[in-house]
Amino acid sequence: MTGPAYPERVELARTPTPLVALERMGAELGVELWAKRDDLTGVELSGNKVRKLEFLLADAIAAGADTVITGGGEQSNHCRATALAATRLGLRSVLLLRCRDPETPPPTRGNILLGRLAGADIVWIDQPTWSRRTEAFEEHAERLRGDGRRPYIIPEGGSNAVGSWGYVRCAEELTTELAALSPARTTVIYACGSGGTGAGLIVGAKLFGWGERGIAVAGVNVCDDRDYFVRAIGAIARDMIDRYELDIALADSDIDIVDGYVGAGYARSRPEELALAVTLARREALIVDPVYTGKALFGLASELARDRSRFGDRVVFLHTGGIYGVFPAAESYSDQL
Ligand SMILES: *Cc1c(COP(=O)(O)O)cnc(C)c1O
Repeated sequence: MTGPAYPERVELARTPTPLVALERMGAELGVELWAKRDDLTGVELSGNKVRKLEFLLADAIAAGADTVITGGGEQSNHCRATALAATRLGLRSVLLLRCRDPETPPPTRGNILLGRLAGADIVWIDQPTWSRRTEAFEEHAERLRGDGRRPYIIPEGGSNAVGSWGYVRCAEELTTELAALSPARTTVIYACGSGGTGAGLIVGAKLFGWGERGIAVAGVNVCDDRDYFVRAIGAIARDMIDRYELDIALADSDIDIVDGYVGAGYARSRPEELALAVTLARREALIVDPVYTGKALFGLASELARDRSRFGDRVVFLHTGGIYGVFPAAESYSDQL
């Protein structure tokens, strides 16, 4: 297999990540179940954002930046990973974190604690400011330029045409790993939050001929809805195709979004989601987070309960990380333990 011409990359993630069988949980769900352990991309740099940051920070360095600016929810895994990765490369970071009331920011725990340990400058912003985040990022960049700094803006989730190359690389790993297994109709399931993971996987699936190999990709959205992500993922993937002159074509029908599992809302858990996370932990010693992977797992199990063959014979659950989100949610698990 000759890979695509990847853009510049700095090495931050421990890759390739392992593909492991989950036999007990698979038996329970009635499917041959595997996990692609992208929660093992590192310890402090655990999860999917590290793969994107390998390309984004290479681009930042090439642009001569000394500071990166990004933003997200108060317990953003992306912001924590950006802060740590930036520090590792000798860059500074500014994180715009969304919370209910910037006058009384949330306690310094979970990802917030890790970001602060890494020396990030945290700016608390409210929901209305978040709604115009592109301008808010630009205003902060302008302020830094005024201080003689050289800022580089990373969008929410690191999800753009540069960062999504991280998931083309993951698709390349999966192509090799799945080729070593017996042939089976397979679906790779992932949690979808800002669309970059999905865009990278879908572009990778095209580049590595997954269609002919019987491998599909499906995302469980943890916020917004199907239409939103068909547009968001489509926009990122088409931007990649144009900017890097990739010899592939993308149709909206290539973007499979399994909608219906946002539940109580972004970063709000229902007891049945937490109960399934506990079951997985007790069967497989695998920890999913309440915001992303826990919802994707619940979506997978619910769809399989409705239709065993929805995802073919083999399911690869892409574990995108998020373990530090478990701790701030500790109280919500108390009924399940
Ligand atoms: C950000 C994140 C996702 C979603 O990935 P996107 O590329 O933003 O769609 C999934 N899982 C975890 C743990 C995340 O932190």
